[in-house]
Amino acid sequence: MVSSLSYHQNALSDTLPSDQSVASDTTVYLSVVIPIYNEFENLPALIDQVSAVLDQETYSYEIICIDDGSKDGSTQRLRELSQTCKALRAIIFRRNYGQTAAMAAGFANAQGKVIVTLDGDLQNDPRDIPVLLEKLLEGYDLVSGWRKQRQDAALTRLLPSKIANKLIAKVTDVRLHDYGCSLKAYRAELVADMNLYGELHRFLPALAFIEGARITELPVRHHPRRYGQSKYGLGRTFRVMMDLMTVAFMKTFLTRPMHVFGVLGMVSLVAGSLLGIYLFVLRILLQQPIGGRPLLMLAVVLFLAGIQLFCFGLLAELLMRTYHESQNKPIYRVRERVGF
Ligand code: UDP
Ligand code: MG
Repeated sequence: MVSSLSYHQNALSDTLPSDQSVASDTTVYLSVVIPIYNEFENLPALIDQVSAVLDQETYSYEIICIDDGSKDGSTQRLRELSQTCKALRAIIFRRNYGQTAAMAAGFANAQGKVIVTLDGDLQNDPRDIPVLLEKLLEGYDLVSGWRKQRQDAALTRLLPSKIANKLIAKVTDVRLHDYGCSLKAYRAELVADMNLYGELHRFLPALAFIEGARITELPVRHHPRRYGQSKYGLGRTFRVMMDLMTVAFMKTFLTRPMHVFGVLGMVSLVAGSLLGIYLFVLRILLQQPIGGRPLLMLAVVLFLAGIQLFCFGLLAELLMRTYHESQNKPIYRVRERVGF
């Protein structure tokens, strides 16, 4: 108990600049990353509310809005808002790349030590940002928001999301209630290690878990969308399922593919060989015909599949090495270095 308390205090003084002199420094402590796709009506209130909340805090911050190919004038509105709000920076995409890409761009350009992501439609409440940060400083690498009272359509959104959340929890071993909530706080160094593809942003906790992060969740407020439309429908569920398979694959196979495919191949090969020997004995020693037996087919298939799986494991092993080495990615993650 005592040691966890002192760790808590250490982490606090370590990362949170507590006096104004530090805050007036040019270093940014918090980066707020917001993907924007056709949120024209929401933008002014969004920037207003976020800066109103963060101006109350002692640390310095920046707001990074990523305009993901908006066609409703959000781009121009961002330009105008950046005139009055000095903390606002905007990255404008050439076309619509999707929320995951927008978040990746935000992460790549964030200068802060901690990063908070939220939606640009005011469904998340900026007042939750300091709350998440406080939780982060208790010693977590990622704090995920949990929309306990989610304000979205029941049948098309809440139900699929409930099922998806259960499934993701099962597959990824990260026990959260709400993976889809955009409101999350991260330590910047955690995000720097992660590459995002597809709709993978909702699997950030799972990816972070693979990277050895300490993860927790916190109930947050959620509001109905007042302006503009949701960009997603039921179709997203299927894309999310495909991404879930990718994540499950990464989780098990990424570092030692041969352990998985090699074992499978071996089992298949041995089973095929045993059947083959059995049939061989029948044919040669007992002089029975085996040509019409389905077992012969099975033996051949198992044998060939075994060899294929084995080779696939070896190939995956090679690919995995290229993957890590081409990015200079070590196979471990360091949390802390002491006495260097
Ligand atoms: N968004 C984006 N690119 C897209 C789709 C959405 O940047 O292709 C942004 C959108 O502007 C919003 C956030 O991602 O800020 C979440 O989108 P939305 O509110 O439509 O999703 P929902 O809350 O309905 O799940
Ligand atoms: Mg929304």
